[in-house]
Amino acid sequence: MSEMTMSITRDKCMGHGRCYSVAPDLLSDDEEGFVAQAGQEFEVDGELIGQAEAAVGACPEQAIHFAR
Ligand code: SF4
Repeated sequence: MSEMTMSITRDKCMGHGRCYSVAPDLLSDDEEGFVAQAGQEFEVDGELIGQAEAAVGACPEQAIHFAR
């Protein structure tokens, strides 16, 4: 399975914490409750695509983008 790329827009993240709750193997929180990967772009391995899609759906700010 080919890899896909996730990116998180830092300015949109409001720290709701939903993304790392549904994607614990992919995302984590920083000390203030924002997603630690905000502002980053990174490859997602095939076995974690389900968690990545869940994170996109869980974010109420549309801060998470996931595409080939
Ligand atoms: S769910 Fe969205 S707004 Fe909340 S911490 Fe994750 S990226 Fe930020």
